[in-house]
Amino acid sequence: MKKTTYNPFETAQNQFDHAADLLELDHATRDFLRNPMREYHFTIPVLMDDGKVKVFKGYRVQHNDARGPAKGGIRFHPLGTIDTVRALSMWMTWKTSVADIPLGGSNGGVICDPHHLSRNEQEKLCRGWVRQIVKNVGPFSDIPAPDIMTNAQHMLWMLDEYEVILGKRYPGFITGKPIEMGGSQGRREATGYGVIITVREALKELAIKPENTLASVQGFGNVARNAIELYHRMGGKVICVSSWDENDHCSYSFQKKDGIDLNELKSIADSFGGIDKMKAQELGYELLPGEAWLEQEVDILIPAAIENQITEENVKKINRRVKIMAEGANGPTTTEADKLLKESDIFIIPDFLANAGGVICSYFEQVQSNMNYYWDKDEVFGKLDAKMTSAYISVSDFSKANELSMRDAAYVISVNRVAQACHDRGWV
Ligand code: GLU
Repeated sequence: MKKTTYNPFETAQNQFDHAADLLELDHATRDFLRNPMREYHFTIPVLMDDGKVKVFKGYRVQHNDARGPAKGGIRFHPLGTIDTVRALSMWMTWKTSVADIPLGGSNGGVICDPHHLSRNEQEKLCRGWVRQIVKNVGPFSDIPAPDIMTNAQHMLWMLDEYEVILGKRYPGFITGKPIEMGGSQGRREATGYGVIITVREALKELAIKPENTLASVQGFGNVARNAIELYHRMGGKVICVSSWDENDHCSYSFQKKDGIDLNELKSIADSFGGIDKMKAQELGYELLPGEAWLEQEVDILIPAAIENQITEENVKKINRRVKIMAEGANGPTTTEADKLLKESDIFIIPDFLANAGGVICSYFEQVQSNMNYYWDKDEVFGKLDAKMTSAYISVSDFSKANELSMRDAAYVISVNRVAQACHDRGWV
């Protein structure tokens, strides 16, 4: 029977099990790493603008901190579940490991839709989240950051609440802060730029010139926008993007065969990435169904939205021209779709490698905040490029040497590092 619902944590565990088989991990290490070390579930009461109290569900899951303090985003999403948070926390562990930065993996969130919360309500929610978890997070234990529908302002409210409770300044408690309040140059751009740095390296290996390529992108949030910006600067052309429509509760694709104009689309999109479909059509974009981004005749596909988007059902719709898929999102491909992709000629740059730029820059921000000394943009981008390129080359070399897919190679490298740290600490 075909599966119609997907559980991202099942996907994450299946991927881990496969890596554990390849590494021939012992039972104890498998049991330890296939589940998070700690989970916190809590409620957050918020006095809403209408005078009524609304109770939100909040989470923080720390998958592993053997290699350093846990690190990961906070997502505000109405469809979030504890299993999404578990999956994201596990993927963070592999992400910090493949990037070889001294951090572990965690993730958290609130089940809510910020589209329908006032600024005041969002501030209370952020402060409430910190109040419930303050004892279990911190600059040397677990450092949050933005994720889907959270931004620099949310991080600043959270930092302020943390500092007010503890009575001291801890700018290294959280990353993705506004630049003028202890944030790092380049953090906003880092995830999207990182995706394109891996695409640049893959194109080099395939001996394809970026200026001869076309791309299609799923999503129009922070990751997608910055990926498009750098890819355009490299000479490529994006001909389609998709975005979530808040009113219709579905996504649409926006196609322009002679290339989309990033600034034009930004000017008709909300801060969460929703593109105004009427205005887009007036500007000459063809409005297509949500999945059309996947079917485009392009060389590069960049899923940069949410998990479980490329499935057994739609994977066959990918155009034969596609040569590279760089996963900007976390977990966009289901296990079943991944099996089918392995049989194709498409070169996959797996999520926790392709989108590691965000957490690499978060690590830089943490270092700068703890030192209270800040680097300029060129220094940040130089270090980001070096880290991303070296992570990409390690995975690519390992994949060739061991005849593994890029995803399997990335998993083997990162799980092995984490397992080793757990053994070295005498945990398993
Ligand atoms: N939420 C981002 C991710 O999934 C960033 C996490 C971080 O910077 O800690 O990679």
